[in-house]
Amino acid sequence: MIEINNITKTYRMGQQELTVLKGISLTIANGDFVAIMGPSGSGKSTLMHILGLLDVPTSGSYKLNGHEVSKLDEDALAVLRREQIGFIFQQFNLLARISAYDNVALPLLYSQKNTDSPVPKELLAEVGLSDRQDHHPNELSGGQQQRVAIARALVNRPQIIFADEPTGNLDSTSEKEILRILHSLNDMGITVIMVTHEEEIGQQAKRLIRMRDGLIQSDTRREALPVNLSTNQQKAEPTPSHSKSWNLQELTVYFHQGFRTLMANKVRTGLSILGIMIGVAAVVAMLALGKGAQEQIEQQLSSLGSNLLILRSGAVRVAGVAQESGATTRLTEEDAKALQDQIPSLKYSAPLVNGRGQVTYLNKNWSTQITGASPPYAQMHASEPVAGRFFSEQENQMRARVAVIGATLLHELFEDQNPIGEMIKINKINFQIIGVLPEKGASGFRNQDDVIIVPVLTAMHRLMGKVYLDSIELEVNDSKNIEPTQNSILELMLRRKRVPPSAQEDAFQIFNMADIQAALSQTSKTLSLLLAAIAAISLIVGGIGIMNIMLVSVTERTKEIGLRKAIGARRKDILLQFLSESVVVSAVGGVAGIILGWLATLILSSAAGWTTSVSLSSIVLSFFTSAFIGILFGVYPARQASGLHPIDALRFE
Ligand code: ADP
Ligand code: MG
Repeated sequence: MIEINNITKTYRMGQQELTVLKGISLTIANGDFVAIMGPSGSGKSTLMHILGLLDVPTSGSYKLNGHEVSKLDEDALAVLRREQIGFIFQQFNLLARISAYDNVALPLLYSQKNTDSPVPKELLAEVGLSDRQDHHPNELSGGQQQRVAIARALVNRPQIIFADEPTGNLDSTSEKEILRILHSLNDMGITVIMVTHEEEIGQQAKRLIRMRDGLIQSDTRREALPVNLSTNQQKAEPTPSHSKSWNLQELTVYFHQGFRTLMANKVRTGLSILGIMIGVAAVVAMLALGKGAQEQIEQQLSSLGSNLLILRSGAVRVAGVAQESGATTRLTEEDAKALQDQIPSLKYSAPLVNGRGQVTYLNKNWSTQITGASPPYAQMHASEPVAGRFFSEQENQMRARVAVIGATLLHELFEDQNPIGEMIKINKINFQIIGVLPEKGASGFRNQDDVIIVPVLTAMHRLMGKVYLDSIELEVNDSKNIEPTQNSILELMLRRKRVPPSAQEDAFQIFNMADIQAALSQTSKTLSLLLAAIAAISLIVGGIGIMNIMLVSVTERTKEIGLRKAIGARRKDILLQFLSESVVVSAVGGVAGIILGWLATLILSSAAGWTTSVSLSSIVLSFFTSAFIGILFGVYPARQASGLHPIDALRFE
C-alpha cells in the first residue's frame, strides 16, 4: 500500500528553482491498476520515480506498506527497490551486450548474489519469449525488448510494477500485448501503476489519475478494487541486508561479471592488459637483472676471499723523480715470511706471481694466466681442488713441476676427461697435473676459471725467471683487526726496506678486499634500485592506462550504471563491479607480464650472456604490485560510477 502526503519536488538549476511537483497526496491500495495521464512536462515521470524509489521528494511523506521511506538513504532504497518494486521504462533500458536471459536474470545478481535460477526462464516463457532467450537486445523487436524488460521487472517477484509510458515506443500490436501482460499481472494481485499518453489505454485502468502542472487534476475510479485480496502475494517484511561482509561467492559473481564485460570489449581490455603486462615484465626482468648482477658480484667477491689484503710495492719517488717499483721496495719470499712471523693477527701470508703462458697437451694449445702461489692460496681463495689435490709447501720448496688447472683448461685441453696425472707443457716445460680448481664463473673483466696455478718458486725460477714477487696476499684472522694489521704491515715493510720518510707515502700499496667488496656491493645495489625504479614507473604508467580506460568505461556505461541501480544495485555493488574489472585486467596483465619478463630474462641471459636471477619474491612482489595498482587506479573510476544518482545516470545520453 502506497501513501504519499503533500509530496513536492523542486529541481535547482543554478540560481533558478523549478518546482515540478507542488504537493501531491495519494493513496494506492494493493492490487490496484492505476493509469496516470497528463500533458508532457506535468511531472508524471517525476512522480513515478519518487513512487518507484528511484528519486527522493524534496518534502512530504511517503509511506510504503506503512514505513516512512522518504528519508531513507540510497542503499536502503536500493534494497527496497529490488525486493518490492519492478520498473518498466519507455526506453526498455536493456543491457545491450548481454542476452535476453542475462538481462532478465540481472536483478538476481543483486538480490541473491547468484543468477542461477529457473525463474528467468519461466518468466521469459510467460511473456512468450522462450525461443529468444539467447538473443541480444539488438536482435529483438521493440515489443520483444519491452517484454524482456517486463520479465526483468518480475524476476524478484515484486509487489508493485511501475511502468512509465511502456508502450510509448511501440507499434499497436506490441502495445496490446504489453497491456495484456500488465493486466494479467494485475489479475495475479500485483499493483500496477502506469503512465500513458493514450486515452484508450487510460480508460482500461481501474483508476485514472490526471495531472497538470505538478498537481492532481482529477482522480476517478473506473472499476472497483477486487474485494478478495487473498491472492495478493503479500510479501513478508523485507529485511534489508546491510551485511558488510563480502562473502566469497559474492566476489566470484562480481569477478565473473567483470570478466564478461571485459570480454565484450576485447580491444580496449587487451590494450590495458598490455600496459600492465609491459610494466610487470619490466619489473620482473629488471629485478632479475639487478639480482643477477648482485649475486655474481657476491660470488666473485667470496671467491676472492674474506679479510683479504693485497700488498704491492708502489712507485718510490726519490727527489721528485718517479722510479718504477724502486728496488728498495720490491717484495720477496722473505718479506712474506717475515710478515707471517712478526704480525700475529695474520692468518696467512702468501707470495704471488702472475704471468701468461702457453699450455700444450698433445696437439692442443691454450694461452692462459699462470699464477705462482703457495699452498695457503687454496684456503684463502676458497679454491680447494674438486679433483686431485693442491701442491704442498715441500713441492714448492723443491720447485716441483706440478700444476692445478682451472675449469676452462679442463674443458679446452681435456674435454672434461680426467686430467689428473697427465703431463702438459707450460711454455715448453713439462708439468704434471695434480688437481682441478672449482668452477668460479666469469667476472666482468676476466675469466676466473682460465687459470693454471703452479708453486710460486717453480713459477719464479723455472717458468718466468722472476726474482721478485708481484704481490703478497695476506689474510687477517678477524675483520675487526683489518685496520691495525694494515698499519702493522706497512710499518714492518717500511722498516725492512729502510724507506726514507720522504718516500714512505707511495712505497707500498695495500688493497683491502673488504673495502672493494663494500664498494662493489653498494654499486650493484644502487644499480638494482635504479632498474627497479624505472620498472616501477612503467608499472605506474600501466596503472594510469587502466584508470583512463575505466573512466572512459564509466562515462560510456553511465546508463548501464543507472539501470543496475534502478534494479537494486547498491553503491557497494557498483563499486565492486568496476573494481573487479580493473583487478581482473591487472591480474591478467600481471600474470602475462611475469611470463613475459621471465622469458625476457631467459633471452637476455642466453643472448647477451648477462647473469639474471628470477626470484620467487620478485614474482610475488610484481604480481601483488600489479593487483594493487589495479585497485589503486580502479578505485577512482569505480567511486565515480557508484556515486551516480540512479535517475541522473539513466537520463544520461
Ligand atoms: P512528464 O513525465 O510528465 O512529461 P517530467 O516529470 O519528466 O514530466 O518532468 C517535469 C518537469 O520537470 C519538466 O519540465 C522537466 O523539464 C523538469 N525536469 C525533469 N527532470 C529534471 C531535472 N533533473 N532537472 C531539472 N528539471 C527537470
Ligand atoms: Mg515522462
